[in-house]
Amino acid sequence: QAAKLQESDPQALALGYKEDANKVDAKKYPAFAAGHICSGCALYQGKATDVSGACGAMAGKLVSAKGWCIAWAKKA
Ligand code: SF4
Repeated sequence: QAAKLQESDPQALALGYKEDANKVDAKKYPAFAAGHICSGCALYQGKATDVSGACGAMAGKLVSAKGWCIAWAKKA
């Protein structure tokens, strides 16, 4: 099993990752919009029912389904 991504990990800090998208600083990250969470991101590899899943932007570490980062892109 892959390691859980910590908010303090360098890659997480670089991309403004938050485990809880509700805690994203919308002033600092104007790209953020409500409803944009990891489970709906193209880079998220977890299943819809999983609480976390591997993320392609985070070296395959597990991110929270309810998280967010600046690399968010809508799942096709
Ligand atoms: Fe979440 Fe997508 Fe950012 Fe990965 S790239 S942390 S799945 S928003």
